[in-house]
Amino acid sequence: MSYNKDLKPESLMMSYGYKPELSEGSIKCPIFQTSTFVFQTAEEGKSFFELAYGKREKLPNEELGLIYSRINNPDLEILENRLCLWDKAEDCAVFESGMSAITTVMLEFLKPGDLILHSSPVYGGTDHFLHHFLPKMGIETLGFSPGETESEILKRLEESGKADKLALIHIETPANPTNTLIDIAMCRSIADKFSTEDEKVPLAVDNTYMGPLWQHPLKHGADLVIYSATKYIGGHSDVIAGAVLGNKDLMMRVKTLRTFLGNMAGPWTGWLLMRSLETLKVRMDQQQANAKVVADFLVKHPKVKSVNYLGLIKKNTPEHKIYKKQYEGSGAMLSFDIDGGEREAFQFLNALKLIRLAVSLGSTESLAEHPFTMTHAGIEPEDAIAMGITESLLRISVGVENVEDLIADVAQALDKV
Ligand SMILES: *Cc1c(COP(=O)(O)O)cnc(C)c1O
Repeated sequence: MSYNKDLKPESLMMSYGYKPELSEGSIKCPIFQTSTFVFQTAEEGKSFFELAYGKREKLPNEELGLIYSRINNPDLEILENRLCLWDKAEDCAVFESGMSAITTVMLEFLKPGDLILHSSPVYGGTDHFLHHFLPKMGIETLGFSPGETESEILKRLEESGKADKLALIHIETPANPTNTLIDIAMCRSIADKFSTEDEKVPLAVDNTYMGPLWQHPLKHGADLVIYSATKYIGGHSDVIAGAVLGNKDLMMRVKTLRTFLGNMAGPWTGWLLMRSLETLKVRMDQQQANAKVVADFLVKHPKVKSVNYLGLIKKNTPEHKIYKKQYEGSGAMLSFDIDGGEREAFQFLNALKLIRLAVSLGSTESLAEHPFTMTHAGIEPEDAIAMGITESLLRISVGVENVEDLIADVAQALDKV
């Protein structure tokens, strides 16, 4: 590309990686709704396949030619190039869902007999795959909580008797829905302790909650960044998609497995996400600005016991140290404990008018839900409560609405409790 890479990503989201002259001058990338691509000659087809199958090295400036939409498609390739800019990643793979991104990484880097270390809590779907599918493949799982120190986690690994089988670390920070933080550099250090010359233990970070704007895990030592692109990247509650980013070598493995699982996103999803990326920065900035105001309102309200929001983490605490080091913003996700239990929480949710009662997050509209009985219903109640996912906890994903209207809605709903 002839673009200046020093430009900020938001300046490049409308044009980066797209050549209008290849599409009749169309200013926007068309939807390449096609399963396959015509080769100009048999020799060209042969040469594309040689690259696709790694039978020869790429020539200088050579790009893989278009072959078949399970392997490559312009709507996915351009989208992937644009996503790379936010995390300064070498390569990206887009998937048909966040779950397919997560499970493809786990299937690629784990084999029977291995151990995966993960933070806890993790997204419900991830939790299910870890605890109900991976054991069927003979893969063991070991969880740790936010707040555990490196030596405590190392001790836990030694006690599992499987430390030498550690093959992947998967974390989510901030934890959903409690907003507790995990130190990525600490996890890097653990991964390094169990890596050998030939076999590195990759560290994967699910950055759905904060990315791609407010946390850049690769910078802090992660090998792979994973997204549910359904959330902020898509941002309009109208598409399910996922993405994985990392260096060329690891992404080659991820993309190869994607080719054979066939779980890449389709051209229409690629096009929708490119459209979404054009407004990513303005949407997320506005959502964050609104979330700060909502958090400040909640924290002072007599019917609210406590608010979990990154912008409200107490100074001079270990969490605040991680916050300052790892985050470039406080985000737009918050949760709070209402005075009472499920009854009061439900009264609040049922009284909301502007904010919609739905799971998911990161979209233009504000959404509220009750993690204990909804997104995190799969966790054993004692475990959930130990994690801070109580019957009185409510989660809000703050959208782009007028903030005074949002506050008025929260205030009137709290009044009905
Ligand atoms: C939504 C979500 C997922 C799953 O993504 P889908 O696009 O729904 O498959 C994974 N991780 C986190 C943190 C999520 O919020």
